[in-house]
Amino acid sequence: MSSADPQVETVVDLDAIAHNVRILRAHAGDAAVMAVVKADAYNHGAVQVGRAALAAGATELGVTTIDEALELRAAGITAPILSWLNTSDADYAAAIAAGIEIGVSSTAHLRAVERAARATGASAIVTLKVDTGLNRNGVSAGEYPEVLTLLGRLVAEGVVRFRAMFSHLAHADQPRHPVIDVQRDRFVEAIATAKDHGLQPELVHLANSAATLTRPDLAFDMVRPGISVYGLNPVPDISDADLRPAMTFRARVALVKRVAQGEGVSYGHEWIAPHDTTVALIPAGYADGVPRGLGGRIALRIGDADYPNIGRVCMDQLVVDLGENPHRVREGDRAVLFGGAPGDPHAQQWADLMHTIHYEIVCSPRGRVVRGYSGQAGVV
Ligand SMILES: *Cc1c(COP(=O)(O)O)cnc(C)c1O
Repeated sequence: MSSADPQVETVVDLDAIAHNVRILRAHAGDAAVMAVVKADAYNHGAVQVGRAALAAGATELGVTTIDEALELRAAGITAPILSWLNTSDADYAAAIAAGIEIGVSSTAHLRAVERAARATGASAIVTLKVDTGLNRNGVSAGEYPEVLTLLGRLVAEGVVRFRAMFSHLAHADQPRHPVIDVQRDRFVEAIATAKDHGLQPELVHLANSAATLTRPDLAFDMVRPGISVYGLNPVPDISDADLRPAMTFRARVALVKRVAQGEGVSYGHEWIAPHDTTVALIPAGYADGVPRGLGGRIALRIGDADYPNIGRVCMDQLVVDLGENPHRVREGDRAVLFGGAPGDPHAQQWADLMHTIHYEIVCSPRGRVVRGYSGQAGVV
């Protein structure tokens, strides 16, 4: 093991990303796939994941902010990119110059886009985000007629190209929930209302990962999966659809030592050695994204064996019990916190223990954690 290996790292398998995108394409049928790479691709690296997803057949990328979209353009990605959550003072001029598709959720947003388009002399590519019941982002029902009237005027003037309409589901992880159908009906109605205003979107889309995998009837012209691109199943009670987790979170053993019976380990001595044993120190703690609440409740994989974490998770480190260390774990060995290989601890297990979702678990590694990549998909 060379000294250049990071102490604590995430390794993102780009071939797993490509594999997952191919599975999603199969579920999408005739619909296109927009890979959602917001939040630095759910902490997997937006540029690398974006390239791998496009190489595997996704045709568009989705992000939250204009800055995220510009980062992808700066890396040379030319595919359509939609940015859907910005304040009215966002740099719409930069988005227009870079050919970013701008998601609009209010008259105020649309007016800001209009100002930028007029100032730059280039037309803006606009997508309407309509609120069909999530009551979060998206044009509200009350404001919708006003937005359509303004949009119609801007399209007629050539200030705006009207690209698409989309909405986001509140209950997609419960495939039979009646609110899904309510939202679908409202979405279809919103499309019809736009047509009544003379506005015909080039495409419409609704489905996130869960809907892509469980509700093929909601695929419309494009699906918009995020978490499943990273190999995590958004609907716990369906099979995992053969998705492969792309992220492995691992650290290198920093120290192996003996602890005598009756000695306590880590702050507060919550674990007392029941007999003489060997422990390994893992240089990953809550500052690196290992929740402190997991202390004493997880196991790490070293080689082909699992070792229980003992005592509290600290800011920088945690300890695992090697027992009599039959597999001769040594300083420098890699310990997997969670990962994608068969037998690895799974992000879902951490999520269950923390009463959260695996989305939050893969977004957790940070700070000192160095991100690396394996696999060839999309590498240029
Ligand atoms: C995050 C997000 C998605 C992707 O959701 P997943 O559950 O990760 O598939 C799709 N659309 C919108 C608007 C989002 O915010």
